[in-house]
Amino acid sequence: MIEVPRSAAFSAQLLSDSPPCCLCGKPIHNLRWEVHMHGGGSVLLSHEESATGNHGLDTREEMGMNPIGPECVKKVPKEYRFKVEGE
Ligand SMILES: [Zn+2]
Repeated sequence: MIEVPRSAAFSAQLLSDSPPCCLCGKPIHNLRWEVHMHGGGSVLLSHEESATGNHGLDTREEMGMNPIGPECVKKVPKEYRFKVEGE
């Protein structure tokens, strides 16, 4: 048998206290934004869709709020970004 050829970056990310970005997996050192993931992780919901629940998706596919990092926040349209309060 051989040792699992896991990259150094992988364990560094697991050992990090920072949550990983749900889009790229990089640790987030200063969490400011989240996205509302649904559809088993296939779609994002806007503020309006989150507030009204008017999205026609099965509640079993609800993935909740997930953190995104500073690089990925730029890829997400404004109405799909949720600001993390506090800190
Ligand atoms: Zn990211």
